[in-house]
Amino acid sequence: MRIILLGPPGSGKGTQAIRLSRDYDLPHISTGDMLREAVSGKDRMAQKIKEIMESGALVPDEIIFSILEKRLKKEDTRKGFVLDGFPRNLEQARELDKILGDAGDFVVFDLVVGEDTVVRRLSKRRVCKKCRVNYHLEFQPPKIGGKCDECGFSLYQRDDDKPEAIKNRLKVYNKESRPLAEYYKERGSLISINAELDEEQVFASIREKLEK
Ligand code: AMP
Repeated sequence: MRIILLGPPGSGKGTQAIRLSRDYDLPHISTGDMLREAVSGKDRMAQKIKEIMESGALVPDEIIFSILEKRLKKEDTRKGFVLDGFPRNLEQARELDKILGDAGDFVVFDLVVGEDTVVRRLSKRRVCKKCRVNYHLEFQPPKIGGKCDECGFSLYQRDDDKPEAIKNRLKVYNKESRPLAEYYKERGSLISINAELDEEQVFASIREKLEK
């Protein structure tokens, strides 16, 4: 089962990817998480990537291809995988086809959500530093302030969840990533999901489509 999750920032890709990965026992491959780990170093390259991410722009394709290829080699992908945050543009979609060979073999979920919802979700999002579970200060607060319900680790606000970066991420999404839906639609692999609904309902509709 090769699953790709498309959708703007704040559409719930990360949350749904974690759930899919747990329920179907598939590796969760998030280029955003891999990059956040990679930029913890102090070297110039790490700092440069960090700046790009904080601005909401896309990290250059060559860097993404290199981290993705290394990760795919490490994971047992025989049962499939869940891709979260990749591909982000048409170049990356074509590269993925090249890496994997048989291009048609994907289920692509497009998480459809309006920009108002995105801003509302991202500006109050908090993320667990350890297990990456997402919270929302208003709609889904942690039981104990600032701590993850699942592992007790500290929650933090991503730098790119600040207002200026959110605006830029939406701009980048509309220009670079939105055309991907058409790309996969033409191959008959695209399934649109109403991601305005709450997490449970979105997950239920993804599951229902997968079980079919
Ligand atoms: P995400 O966690 O998926 O929202 O990604 C956070 C940031 O990491 C994005 O705003 C980009 O700066 C960078 N990023 C993640 N995935 C990609 C990708 N596939 N291509 C380029 N940049 C990416």
